[in-house]
Amino acid sequence: MAKRGAQMDQPEQPISMHAFKRITDACLRTEVKCRQKAKADGKRWQVLVEPGGRVPPNLTRRDGVACFRLLMGHDYLQAHLCRIGLAVDPTCTLCGREDMSSEHLDVCPSIEDIRSLILSDNIYRKKALVYWEARRRMAELP
Ligand SMILES: [Zn+2]
Repeated sequence: MAKRGAQMDQPEQPISMHAFKRITDACLRTEVKCRQKAKADGKRWQVLVEPGGRVPPNLTRRDGVACFRLLMGHDYLQAHLCRIGLAVDPTCTLCGREDMSSEHLDVCPSIEDIRSLILSDNIYRKKALVYWEARRRMAELP
């Protein structure tokens, strides 16, 4: 960074140390953000780079954990368990129709009953309740 800064055109008028620090900090933040975006490009967690894509911090721990797991894909649903080698088949253990991923929880007929019972308008709360119910039902299977 210092080497690059020395090669840039130097200002005609001297600037204060405070202004210099502010400018340097802004440049550094921009560069770090660009690097993070480049590293996250195409990854499932790409949404975490943008503040609007994050899980809200005001959720209960239980809901926050569920939403974060679903967002990251480390959700311990059948597709994830198969990906990490703990299951041989990614197919939904509750309905057997398709791979059991976070997207499948929105359409799985075996947990339709719980989805229809949840009246909360909070999408995060709703996703968390469906997730934990699916995990509970998975655990009850022989
Ligand atoms: Zn299913």
